[in-house]
Amino acid sequence: MAAYVLHVGAHTAQGARSNNEDRLVVDRVHNVFLVADGMGGQERGEQASGLAAEIIPRVVQDQLATQADAGRAVQQALSEANQAIIHAGRHQPAGRRMGTTAVLAVQQANQVYVAGLGDSRAYLIRGDRVEQLTVDHSVAQALVTSGVLSPEEARHSPWQHVLHKFLGCAEMVDGADVRPFTPQAGDRLLLASDGLTNHISDDDLRQGAKQFADPQVWAEHLVDVALQRGSKDNVTCIVVAFDPE
Ligand code: CA
Repeated sequence: MAAYVLHVGAHTAQGARSNNEDRLVVDRVHNVFLVADGMGGQERGEQASGLAAEIIPRVVQDQLATQADAGRAVQQALSEANQAIIHAGRHQPAGRRMGTTAVLAVQQANQVYVAGLGDSRAYLIRGDRVEQLTVDHSVAQALVTSGVLSPEEARHSPWQHVLHKFLGCAEMVDGADVRPFTPQAGDRLLLASDGLTNHISDDDLRQGAKQFADPQVWAEHLVDVALQRGSKDNVTCIVVAFDPE
């Protein structure tokens, strides 16, 4: 039996933007957690991330109710959200896109299933180890993977914020990678939009996980720090704490 109990904190801030295109979902009944970062400007980004926040938890819940494997449930949910957002954006003027990132975690039995599309991220903090569980679907990251850019060059690349895979992307045919892990007591899982991750280091996560026992206090602190460090974006995170029983 898992010797932990879940506590969850979540926070979002509009920051300097005129609206908040980030959405978060914390479903403690089914243990489904989602951060979506909409893009497309004006109400379009909000509409895209809003659709993700409405569809993904619902499809996951429906799938889990039929005893489906959580990994398959996550795939199905992302696929349905992708289709819905493409459909909603089909009357957009040419050259304008509407889409959203999504990073989600679903707990089933003693496993947690994590998937991400776009550049919102999931991190697992276990003791002194900080591991990014998701891959950024930015052009800059793809250039790092193929050896064209160093990670440091990628951080300053104009391609850093250009996404090649996201919800609302017609080319998203090969679906999302779902990564399962087995939580241990003491683990912290962070889901966050790039408005936060652009300003928070691995060291911040390592130290904060030790310093902040309450995940809500830590979530609010992380958002505040990102804003203090000059984030001009919407800033959003969910902290899932696997606390010892
Ligand atoms: Ca963002």
